[in-house]
Amino acid sequence: MTSSSAAVAARPGPDPAVIIEVVHVTKSFVSPDGSPLPVLDDISLDIREGEIVALLGRSGSGKSTLLRCIAGLIAPTSGEVRYRGNVLNGANPGVAMVFQSFALLPWLTVRQNVELGLEARGVGPAERRQRAERAIDTIGLDGFESAYPKELSGGMRQRVGFARALVVEPDALLMDEPFSALDVLTAQNLRAELLRLWREKDFPTKAMLIVTHNIEEAVILADRIFVLGANPGRIRTEINCPFPQPRDRHDEQFQALVDQIYGLMTGRDTRPPAHIWTVATPGEGSPTDTPLPAASVGGMSGLLEILVGHGGREDLPQLAHELTFEVDDLLPLVDAAQLLGLAEVTDADLNILDDGRVFVAADILESKRIFARRARERAPLVRAICRALEATSNGTLGEGFFLDLLRRGFSEDEARQQARIAVDWGRYGELFDFDANTGQFTLEPAASEDGHANVGAEARAG
Ligand code: ADP
Ligand code: MG
Repeated sequence: MTSSSAAVAARPGPDPAVIIEVVHVTKSFVSPDGSPLPVLDDISLDIREGEIVALLGRSGSGKSTLLRCIAGLIAPTSGEVRYRGNVLNGANPGVAMVFQSFALLPWLTVRQNVELGLEARGVGPAERRQRAERAIDTIGLDGFESAYPKELSGGMRQRVGFARALVVEPDALLMDEPFSALDVLTAQNLRAELLRLWREKDFPTKAMLIVTHNIEEAVILADRIFVLGANPGRIRTEINCPFPQPRDRHDEQFQALVDQIYGLMTGRDTRPPAHIWTVATPGEGSPTDTPLPAASVGGMSGLLEILVGHGGREDLPQLAHELTFEVDDLLPLVDAAQLLGLAEVTDADLNILDDGRVFVAADILESKRIFARRARERAPLVRAICRALEATSNGTLGEGFFLDLLRRGFSEDEARQQARIAVDWGRYGELFDFDANTGQFTLEPAASEDGHANVGAEARAG
């Protein structure tokens, strides 16, 4: 080895600039029926000195789980995480974490909260106090040392969260959506301050890893971005983000990258290029491999109306901006429109399709009919529920039947969420109804196989 790194080379071999390596990590939890629930699938990545890395993905893509594996708080099901060349076997000694929810102890003052991390590492009281005060100054909390968390605004509380993590001078700082509970301006402000600290020469932390679902945040902060796909979480792309700091979100290249990532996160850019959904023949896809997007029919219709108002084509970031939507709110609506074949995404633009125009222009009865036919053809869970109900003698089944099916591919929460969305869609299309008191799904009598939902029918089967 020609490397002459003196202090830290734990053993010959590893690149001294690599702080953390994630090597073929998979993670499964156990679903309520005892079967494995894969959450992370074969994740490999490394984090090097001098860089800010973002893990970008929609909610449920396993970001927090991956971060917890890296912190050594949970063990991977297979694969390993290494810190400075050493395989973790417990808490990662080189990292500290900042959480979305601040996680402060309400009965301790700001200074006591900040000292906690040092106490856990066996630092004596005098040094604790001195270092805590320095961290508190650094992060702009001067004068609030004796305040209790409840006396602080959200932004100030998160500063305490940062001070508590930075006080231990971690080799790498791990952050799990640290700005997402803050209002837009506070988040911007704190992000800028973090970058300012990061650029200071004596900042002891050598790398930062941030988990986020916010595309712009990733592009503002990161040198490299890993885009995670869901079900199970895997790395879809690694993106280099070479723009000098501080970055200007109105810059053309910045916008182009944001656009590109929007395209990636709507799943359209994964080849084959065009018409993925039109190629997908009805009958393909199962309720677990094609989940229902978490979108209400009303929300999706609203989005399509706005789209028609924009001449039928609009930039996704622009739509999100106009609706003051977060990605997590907008993308499910986009997914629903794509799943139903009413719109499609190309190059981060949402385009209305002919059937989408008909849907928007139709009166309520006709749009319900279109929706019912499309949902039955293209949404596997809706189709599965209709078929199962049709196969019974009285058109009725308990929700347990469907939840058991869903639990094979989803966690308990997600299974229930899928069932809730299906009920919303089934009701809107008058395909089936659900009685929350009895827990029974009931086929709408007119929702026959040929897709003619007889809108307005009052009678119930059974
Ligand atoms: P993200 O942070 O991207 O929103 P998470 O890592 O929190 O995603 O969760 C990914 C998936 O793993 C979700 O489906 C979630 O329900 C599931 N999950 C997370 N933690 C557990 C757990 N302790 N037990 C069972 N399922 C879990
Ligand atoms: Mg999370």
